[in-house]
Amino acid sequence: MSQFSSIYGQAPAVAALRRALASNQLPGCYLLVGTPGVGKGAMARALAQAACCLSPIVEPATEFDSCGTCSSCRMAEAGTHPEIITFLPSGEATQIWQFWERDNKPGSGALSRTMAYAPSIGKRRVYIVERAETLTESAANSLLKVLEEPPPYALFILAAPHQARVLPTIFSRSQTVRLNASPRAGLEQFLVSTTACNPETASLLASISEGRTGYAVRMALSPAVGTEIERILEFAETLPTAPRVRALKIAEQMRKLAVQVKALIGEEPSAAEDPADGEGGSAKEKTSRRQLAALFDLLMAYYRDLVACSAANPQQMVDVHIINSNRIDHLLRLAAGSSASRWMRCLDALTVARRRLDANANVALVTEVLAMTLVEP
Ligand SMILES: [Zn+2]
Repeated sequence: MSQFSSIYGQAPAVAALRRALASNQLPGCYLLVGTPGVGKGAMARALAQAACCLSPIVEPATEFDSCGTCSSCRMAEAGTHPEIITFLPSGEATQIWQFWERDNKPGSGALSRTMAYAPSIGKRRVYIVERAETLTESAANSLLKVLEEPPPYALFILAAPHQARVLPTIFSRSQTVRLNASPRAGLEQFLVSTTACNPETASLLASISEGRTGYAVRMALSPAVGTEIERILEFAETLPTAPRVRALKIAEQMRKLAVQVKALIGEEPSAAEDPADGEGGSAKEKTSRRQLAALFDLLMAYYRDLVACSAANPQQMVDVHIINSNRIDHLLRLAAGSSASRWMRCLDALTVARRRLDANANVALVTEVLAMTLVEP
């Protein structure tokens, strides 16, 4: 579903786009700005589909949306709309030949081949540049003229994590729409109702996604994510009762387990886009840090549950939000075996480890120090 009505938690952005569409005041270029995984792709697709739709929902104007059923919408939904063209980086960068024909390069010149012709399937031609921060300088400069005076039927939608990552000349020709992290409450239910994911996975994804709906939805749709989560939580359950002498072994297990994390970092481009990661380390090193970070995030959710379980007495449990509610019996047993302050210490240690990981600290050292705190005191 690529309609505004199926977008969760971006009410101000959706309202602004609906107003522009309803009053037929679309600018030639939108720049969607927001953290990786926040849902820029879904917003771009919904906007493209609505802009092209042959019989949009226009009443009331505040609910403006694509119809979802016309021939243009059906093609847009299927990702086969020839008049909605999406540009992704070719390698590391989005390059000039992707827009304009160069040396008869195959697949080149999507703009030069189409821009001059009025649309025949939908109401507009839409060009989506999904990672505008990767535009080379020459590619960005080559867009300036068309962004300045686009044909009336053309709509450009650029997306980038930060406004500062886009050339000022592009930025000044675009209308910026900001996407924000969406509230956690509700995301869980949204995931259950829009994806085939079970309530337990939805609860965990809502918690670890930190309001990045796009990331949560991608995870919820990935068939392998459930297995990976299960494997990590089973590991988490063994930690509190592991004897201290096994701490180094546990750290090693943690690193091995992280290597198996694939789906959980699957299509999340944050590491590649994060400026902090820009310099040091090879791509492999970056990937292994992202894998470990994903594992830490799940452990944090687990320890948050332990804190919640040990702080509340059983009669109050109805009011406490437990993320891993399907593991409640085990959580309660573990929680009762130690004090809330121990679980808080573990949670602190995980937070510190997560930060050190982002700051490029040595992975072996980070996991070893962490394991010393997580095992039996
Ligand atoms: Zn339609």
